[in-house]
Amino acid sequence: MEEKKCGSCGANLDFVRTRNLWVCPFCGSQYSNDSKAEDKEEDDGLGLSNALFVIEKDLNSLMEKKRVAEFVNSLAFCLKNFGTSKEVGDYLSKKCHIKDDCAVTGVNEDKFKLILPRIQAETDPGEKVLVYVNKGIFSQGKEFYAVTEKRILFADKKSCKSINHTDIGSFKLDDSIDTVAIYVNNSSSAQLVSPGNSFKELGAVIALITLLSFEQDADREPISIV
Ligand SMILES: [Zn+2]
Repeated sequence: MEEKKCGSCGANLDFVRTRNLWVCPFCGSQYSNDSKAEDKEEDDGLGLSNALFVIEKDLNSLMEKKRVAEFVNSLAFCLKNFGTSKEVGDYLSKKCHIKDDCAVTGVNEDKFKLILPRIQAETDPGEKVLVYVNKGIFSQGKEFYAVTEKRILFADKKSCKSINHTDIGSFKLDDSIDTVAIYVNNSSSAQLVSPGNSFKELGAVIALITLLSFEQDADREPISIV
């Protein structure tokens, strides 16, 4: 990536792709992105920036399905309005409907403690859980997924596997039957479902994960939506 210097203090600027801005890590100055090549980024009509996503699925036709539209609009809304994972996390906590068997920072947080024994071997000491979603009515603490600062954990009755945010290559959107689910890296054991009664919450969770991934690896390739 090209290098730019801060006009105030001379430090090298960081490019923040999710905001299309150059930011000085030392003095905090911000500069708009005036590079012609990158001005062309945005958009596919759905509001999903092609700096973040390569869309390989025909989302435009799927938008006729109410639940898909709800999911995609929420994802685009979060990424347009919030530039950091912290802001999306706040939005999830304050504005989203989180069911009793789910938890996000500040809502039902006691559930995080229940799953700690299951995820301990896969996480670093002190690694914060941000989202927990129980995947079955009778499977409290047995089948769930959890999003931490560093990774997504998928637990079934027997095991717990994890995918680092920086290792996410694709989100497979499954809109079959009457739900929307996302499979990370096309893996059948890495399924993300909505933590609420609507697909707005799932859109916010995917926005959160996307931003975490780009925050931890600013030069990463866009994530494919397949
Ligand atoms: Zn500066």
